[in-house]
Amino acid sequence: MRLDGKVAIITGGASGIGRATVHKFVREGAKVLVADIDRARAEEVVAEVEEAGFPGSAAATAVDVSVFAQVEQMVAEAVRVFGAVHVIFNNAGIAGGVPLLEHDPEADYERIVRVDQNGVYYGIVAAGRQMAKQGSGGVIISTSSVYGEQAAELSFTYSAAKAAVISFTRSAAYELAEHGIRAVAITPGRVATPIINQFSDELRATFAAEQLRGRLTNPDEIADVVAFLASDESRVINGTVVSVDDGYSVFKQRLQ
Ligand code: NAD
Repeated sequence: MRLDGKVAIITGGASGIGRATVHKFVREGAKVLVADIDRARAEEVVAEVEEAGFPGSAAATAVDVSVFAQVEQMVAEAVRVFGAVHVIFNNAGIAGGVPLLEHDPEADYERIVRVDQNGVYYGIVAAGRQMAKQGSGGVIISTSSVYGEQAAELSFTYSAAKAAVISFTRSAAYELAEHGIRAVAITPGRVATPIINQFSDELRATFAAEQLRGRLTNPDEIADVVAFLASDESRVINGTVVSVDDGYSVFKQRLQ
């Protein structure tokens, strides 16, 4: 029960890493607002939580994180339903790139950056304001990616947006420390969620081989780390990146 008495907002909570984190947080005693652009799937996750034996521990709300007014409403909804906001997990994101020279420079840039970059920025501002007003601190966790620290095929805009998430995290930690608010970014590698599961078995096997245990990460394994980061046990982790990539970013070279 490391999150007993905490209220958390989880964006992208209807699927993948976000959904697994909703389940982990309620098991740790938190109340969770499941916020997603897909309201029906967010409501399904709330129903799963009820069935798992935690009635009243989760509520659903629809949000498009790329619209600041909706992110403000999401924060207000958490306060209305659960009375406060202690943790936000800025996790909603989209992937999918186009070769650089084939970009429609406005559309292909905007599509990713609006969600993966602006959405995190809006979450930090809106939840940060609420946490500062409450005066009892808080934790802001945001999902970057290994791609935020390296170049990769078809990831020109995705990498830039995910790098911005790391930069936002450092600056937010610096600016919000006086309010007792921490900020941490995580960098997943290859996680078995719909983003990865859409690919062929062959490509999934290639992705699995990129990690040191030779397998895709289970979303629950990311959720375990996020729960730790949301808890007071991680109170000295601030303004930094926590790698959750199962060794993806280790330089690997086979000599034979
Ligand atoms: P997912 O597709 O299972 O979940 C993403 C969720 O975000 C979905 O429920 C979707 O409806 C929601 N969403 C999309 N756009 C939104 C918007 N504008 N407003 C609100 N919600 C929106 O994918 P996932 O793998 O769980 O991804 C979660 C995060 O992890 C993303 O930020 C992704 O970039 C990041 N990530 C994933 C991997 C991986 O291998 N799966 C690796 C590195 C980083």
